[in-house]
Amino acid sequence: MTLPEPVGTMASPLRMDYTYVAGAGRSVFLRGLAQRRLLAARCPGCSRVYSPAPELCSRCLRRLGPPFELTGRGEVSTFCVVSFPFPGQVYKPPYVVAHIRLDGADTRLMHLVREVAPERVTIGLRVEPVWVDDDELDTSTTSIRYFRPVPTRFGWGPSEAPGYDNNSAPSTAAGSADA
Ligand SMILES: [Zn+2]
Repeated sequence: MTLPEPVGTMASPLRMDYTYVAGAGRSVFLRGLAQRRLLAARCPGCSRVYSPAPELCSRCLRRLGPPFELTGRGEVSTFCVVSFPFPGQVYKPPYVVAHIRLDGADTRLMHLVREVAPERVTIGLRVEPVWVDDDELDTSTTSIRYFRPVPTRFGWGPSEAPGYDNNSAPSTAAGSADA
């Protein structure tokens, strides 16, 4: 007996509804977003700073300290370039989704990086949030439209990092090639 060819792909309508429970800790962070504030909290045990902050430290299970506000600036710690289309996509590919470590925090936040061509995004790129208009603010990370490079005196980029060749830094500010 000969077995039929294995099924490789199968089209199937699929719908999933999610109820996201933020919890007491992350609710503070989400309420901050509705006020254009990026909040963090420090663990009194290991000093790790979380943003977004849960209720308890994931390392030592201590209750985190009171929330405090970060500047909102940070740097790209890793990223990927989304280059394929999919249903429901908001932006036309290619675009960059990055993990951003906010200044003063030890954790990372995932968000879009725009106003810069994907090929010019680097690990260490300094970024700042671009907030939505007042009437669009919500208890959601969508209150931040995206992050964009922070202009530096050399253009933009990790220009203060040791060993960075400033001569090769882009001379124009962000927005040069956001297709
Ligand atoms: Zn801890």
